[in-house]
Amino acid sequence: MPDSTPDSFRHQGLRQQLVEEVRKKGIRDVRVLAALGRVPRHAFLDNVFTELAYTDQAMPIGSGQTISQPYTVAFQTELLGVEERMKVLEVGTGSGYQACILEEMGARVFSIERQRALFHATRDRLKEMGRKIKVFFGDGTLGLPAFAPFDRILVTAGAPSVPEALLEQLKIGGWLVIPVGNEEIQKMMRIIRISESEVESETFEDFRFVPLLGQEGWRAIR
Ligand code: SAM
Repeated sequence: MPDSTPDSFRHQGLRQQLVEEVRKKGIRDVRVLAALGRVPRHAFLDNVFTELAYTDQAMPIGSGQTISQPYTVAFQTELLGVEERMKVLEVGTGSGYQACILEEMGARVFSIERQRALFHATRDRLKEMGRKIKVFFGDGTLGLPAFAPFDRILVTAGAPSVPEALLEQLKIGGWLVIPVGNEEIQKMMRIIRISESEVESETFEDFRFVPLLGQEGWRAIR
């Protein structure tokens, strides 16, 4: 069961220490740091992990999946350059934590998850929290064509290549942040759609994500 204990002064104190740790690791965007300082990470984790909620590490969230390390969340969010009212698609809802960080930054968030149990649990949790994030069940490598185009798209699982469908669902001038590589290690990429047919891409540091499964991801055998 996710931790339903309220956000105590202790949690708030530990969270500020985590924000400081992430800042020291190189995250500079004060809006990202402020969002990290506001969202109670312990509320997205099982009770047994409460004591570790404010350490900078990934943790299990069930269905063989993980909530990303806070530094990774901050790194991806900083690269995404979200501004107020932007329409953002997240692929890989997981616990819903990253989606809340994006909402805290003023984005209108759409998020898609392919694990049914996680989708149900997270949709209910976000609703209970009073979040306006729209959560969908399905293969996020195909995006959400009914709600496209998006200002920003964030992929929170490791892809073998950049899904064509996601590029097509970006606005001209829109940005896609996605880890791309093999199943062991991926490079963070930021791709900017500069015209109908052209993109520009930049490559950043290495990360380790769970695999992006699906039609334009790793082929699902599980
Ligand atoms: N953003 C999440 C959070 O804040 O907790 C963590 C994401 S976890 C590292 C990656 C998630 O991507 C997993 O929940 C996994 O089931 C999901 N996933 C993998 N392939 C997917 C796909 N094709 N479509 C949607 N979700 C996918």
